[in-house]
Amino acid sequence: MNNMISAIKNNVQDRNSVAWKRLCDYVEKIAAEGNDEFSPVKELGPELFSQIYTLPETIATLKKVKRVWLYGSKLKRIPPEIGEMESLEYFDPYTSYDLHWFPYEIINCKKLKDSRVSTRALYGNFKNRKGFPILTNNPVRYEGNTVKCSICKKDMSWLDTNQLWVSLRIGTDVLPLLVNVCSSTCEAAIPAPPKDYIPHAHKGGSNLKQLRGDNDLSIEEFKQKYAHKIIDISSIEDQNEPAKSSTRT
Ligand SMILES: [Zn+2]
Repeated sequence: MNNMISAIKNNVQDRNSVAWKRLCDYVEKIAAEGNDEFSPVKELGPELFSQIYTLPETIATLKKVKRVWLYGSKLKRIPPEIGEMESLEYFDPYTSYDLHWFPYEIINCKKLKDSRVSTRALYGNFKNRKGFPILTNNPVRYEGNTVKCSICKKDMSWLDTNQLWVSLRIGTDVLPLLVNVCSSTCEAAIPAPPKDYIPHAHKGGSNLKQLRGDNDLSIEEFKQKYAHKIIDISSIEDQNEPAKSSTRT
């Protein structure tokens, strides 16, 4: 599977297209109206929406938006400016199968509690452990000639950044996040990933050792791993008599 890792492509969007211009206008409108929903497919219609592969950096102006609907999109990436959407509570890019990673800056959406992401598409997900593209030489480019350190926000040139992957819980899901760091001090400040994920930030690549995915486990291994979640039905039935004693603790 590892030899199927494909490099991340930059410049994914034709920014002169009608679809892109309509999307930028829509962002402006939602920002001006102080709307709390952002649902580009409703504004653009499915045909134009299918020509959208990233979101404009101006999403940073969507300070009132609580819910983002991107169901079935063809998005390949989300810009780091999503971290400035301070009211964001719900994020739904479900069935966006080309969306394999997210910018670390999404961690700044402090109110984000709920998400619906197609986890099978994600790098490093617990089912198939999809390989992480290699980040040696820091190949990912966002718009602009400089990039901000994801930790201390310092502006730096693309030559000065160090790009890493880290898997962290965001909303309902553990997401693979791309981090740009300016120094070893900032690298040390990256939070620790949850159990069952590569326990530190890393550069990806085919030599990276990941835990095996659930899809690779034998039935016995799967049972062992999830033993704590397997419930003995007979014991529940016992507890349910009388029914009122079944309160979960
Ligand atoms: Zn820094």
